[in-house]
Amino acid sequence: MSNKRVYLFHEGNAKMRDLLGGKGANLAEMTNIGLPVPPGFTITTECCNYYSKHGKFPEGLMDDVREALAAVEKDMGKKLGDPENPLLVSVRSGAKFSMPGMMDTVLNLGLNDQTADALIRLTGNERFVWDAYRRFVMMFSDIVLSGQYPDLKKEKFEHIFDALKEKVGAKQDTDVDAAGLKELVGQFKEYFRKVTGQDFPSDPMKQLELAIEAVFKSWNNERAVIYRNREKISHDLGTAVNVQTMVFGNMGDDSGTGVAFTRDPATGENRIYGEFLMNAQGEDVVAGVRTPETIDQLAEHNPEIYQQFVEIAKKLEQHYRDMQDIEFTIEKGRLFILQCRAGKRTPQAHIEIAVDHVNEGLITKEEAVLRVPPEVPGLMLLPSLDPDFVKRNKPTVLAKGLNAGPGGAVGKVAIGSAAALRMAEAGDDVILVGRETTPDDLGGMLASRGVLTATGGKTSHAALVARQYGIPTVCGCSALRIDEAARTISADGVVLKEGEYISIDGTNGLVYLGQVPTKMPEVSGKFATFMEWADSFRTMGVRANADTPEHAAEAVELGATGIGLCRTEHMFMGDRVPMVQAMILAEDEAAREEALSKLLPLQREDFVGIFKAMKGYPVTVRLIDPPLHEFLPSLEELLVETTEMRVKGETGPAYEEKMKLLNKVKELHEFNPMLGLRGCRLSIYFPGIVRMQVAAIIGAACEVKKAGLDVHPEIMIPLVGIVTELTHIKEQLEQVAQETMKAEGIEVDYKFGTMIEIPRAALTADEIAQEAAFFSFGTNDLTQMAYGLSRDDAGKFLPLYIEKRIIPVDPTESLDVKGVGRLMQICVEDARKVNPGIKLGICGEHGGDPDSVKFCYKLGLDYVSCSPKRIPVARLAAAQAALEKDGGSTRDK
Ligand code: PEP
Ligand code: MG
Repeated sequence: MSNKRVYLFHEGNAKMRDLLGGKGANLAEMTNIGLPVPPGFTITTECCNYYSKHGKFPEGLMDDVREALAAVEKDMGKKLGDPENPLLVSVRSGAKFSMPGMMDTVLNLGLNDQTADALIRLTGNERFVWDAYRRFVMMFSDIVLSGQYPDLKKEKFEHIFDALKEKVGAKQDTDVDAAGLKELVGQFKEYFRKVTGQDFPSDPMKQLELAIEAVFKSWNNERAVIYRNREKISHDLGTAVNVQTMVFGNMGDDSGTGVAFTRDPATGENRIYGEFLMNAQGEDVVAGVRTPETIDQLAEHNPEIYQQFVEIAKKLEQHYRDMQDIEFTIEKGRLFILQCRAGKRTPQAHIEIAVDHVNEGLITKEEAVLRVPPEVPGLMLLPSLDPDFVKRNKPTVLAKGLNAGPGGAVGKVAIGSAAALRMAEAGDDVILVGRETTPDDLGGMLASRGVLTATGGKTSHAALVARQYGIPTVCGCSALRIDEAARTISADGVVLKEGEYISIDGTNGLVYLGQVPTKMPEVSGKFATFMEWADSFRTMGVRANADTPEHAAEAVELGATGIGLCRTEHMFMGDRVPMVQAMILAEDEAAREEALSKLLPLQREDFVGIFKAMKGYPVTVRLIDPPLHEFLPSLEELLVETTEMRVKGETGPAYEEKMKLLNKVKELHEFNPMLGLRGCRLSIYFPGIVRMQVAAIIGAACEVKKAGLDVHPEIMIPLVGIVTELTHIKEQLEQVAQETMKAEGIEVDYKFGTMIEIPRAALTADEIAQEAAFFSFGTNDLTQMAYGLSRDDAGKFLPLYIEKRIIPVDPTESLDVKGVGRLMQICVEDARKVNPGIKLGICGEHGGDPDSVKFCYKLGLDYVSCSPKRIPVARLAAAQAALEKDGGSTRDK
């Protein structure tokens, strides 16, 4: 741990995010470029980590805090707790990566009866002081002590306030006068004494110490942990604590507070976009309780301040060379900047702003490509409500709110997070509906297709989070009434029960009754430009996992330059099942050949369709992989059916057929089919199937070539673990390929290769690579076998492993670099030694995961292959990998 634990704002700078957190580093930077930042200091993230580890502050931390505080006091000419001229401070969290609303903040710290009196004397504004005081008692109790005393939660205090409002006949908080608020402070303190048996802490230094501790603790609160897991932010970073002089937006009508973005965070449009409330504190804007005014209206309240703000916003965007999210407060006609950070934005805005910034000369194309998170192109492809359907059918509009998160979503109404989680778990698409959403609703929001709230502005924390994840969101829908007890929502006299369908359009804020179909967007305009830039830096290929002509065409549309995995068993489903079953049940070779000959033209037709759709790009076709019993009914089902038939005396030919099927299922039954008769083992056991498949592949390729099109099939033999498995099958299949070409009277370019899915295959690559023109890492199986876990059952315990921090991420989603990655590395090195020209790729699910794609780039793979929808994600991740190769990640995380 470094010696210096507390930094005054002017002692830091923007580069010190590790130590000072993003907020602290930016406050320091803004102070240094001369912006009006209220003075303060930052306690380092190292102190938080020390606290998390030891459960106490590092020795002497409070002495350092006192010293820094003295410097701030000197600067301000005020002192914390001074009965004549008191200083009040805010105590805020601020980690290296922004975690909006996930951790804690205490405002107005330093208030007690004496300092309150002094402030009344100094400001002459009694109402303001009692308002600040009642907020402080509530917030301090909630944040600092409600862990120990659950009855100190904010809601309890709000009930007391509601009762008082009713008593004095006030509708809004602002209708309560100074006397009312003074009475409220008394009631709050009395309630505090009742709950804790002690007086509310009046010593400001003690308040400060407890608040710092609460912020440290909030690093590990539940929602912060969920957020970090989701965002793959390390749990070891810790939060800094910023102690800053309070300025007040609630000092009357010449005061106010707000949040603004230097560009529209929903669309990316180049205009200042924000919200503010006059005579309010920051929490009123971000908590989404009062619906705020838009930033343009600030020009009407105070044109000079508006102008000053616009200039500062421009300066900050130019300084940081990125869109900024700025929190500001106006205290008695004077503007203060409390915070700035790179603004969260929708996927659309990410692209729009990156492209505009390049066109404006603010950043380079490389920076633009590196700056956009690789998940963004995937989110850009989220559906919107079908505009043609809306035009034609005019679905009933239930209500209109603010367009807080673009995109369209359809689902069943779920009132509150708990219901949303429950219904989503049961398999429903849900729209989370609530009066407001708080950061505590993160889990519920992530489980929902969309979010709809009655109150709250577009800069509420929940709206920020929704936008970040591309969850279509409509908020501030004031006509909406929610009856939690009756489990209904209503607007304009229309009542809907929980579980009924609504559709929301987060792009224009409309809420429709019933289900409006959704439509996929196209890659065009600035998105297309951005992806072209990404491709210009990319060196690794991106292919698709696709097994129908439609998917293949979609993949090409989305930028794939080949198919990396065509799973042929998918072609044995649907109305072809009876043919496949006949083949499995055949009693002799002749009957099996006959069944296979029926499948051959159908398979060939499939491949013709795919080859045509791929327009000459290589197509890797994997021969049949799953165990045969997957094409037969289940044992249990057949046992029930045959028993029923017997009981009813139906023992004719139909019964005989069923019994035959049952016996075959019993014969094929395996205790552990994933490690059983599948992949190349099945081909060795039943060579007829793969012979038919190769005849179909090569036959189709010949046909397509005759039609004048380019075609490059790559035939992939799965689940090889021993080189002789490969040679055994390849020999027979080479023969089929040659015979087919001869019969067709034309030659095609084809290759044989294998998947690397068994650890033994990776470790004996020096042998296998001599027999294969290409390898494709089947990292689904490779992960399963390297870990000795079942990919079908691991869902039971892997989430627990992540929650308990046994592993940081699910290895079935993101490649385990240390173990599975090591196997891959050995394999790549050994294979290239004996076969330098071997083509190497990956086709497990990891091929669409940005971190895994970057690892594959480092390994030197020729391509990654993923599902069509992930292709733009993989393209961007691969471009970033190429750009990062020297400088490491410059991503904001
Ligand atoms: C793999 O194992 O990674 C793979 C792509 O094959 P499958 O998922 O079909 O087993
Ligand atoms: Mg596999």
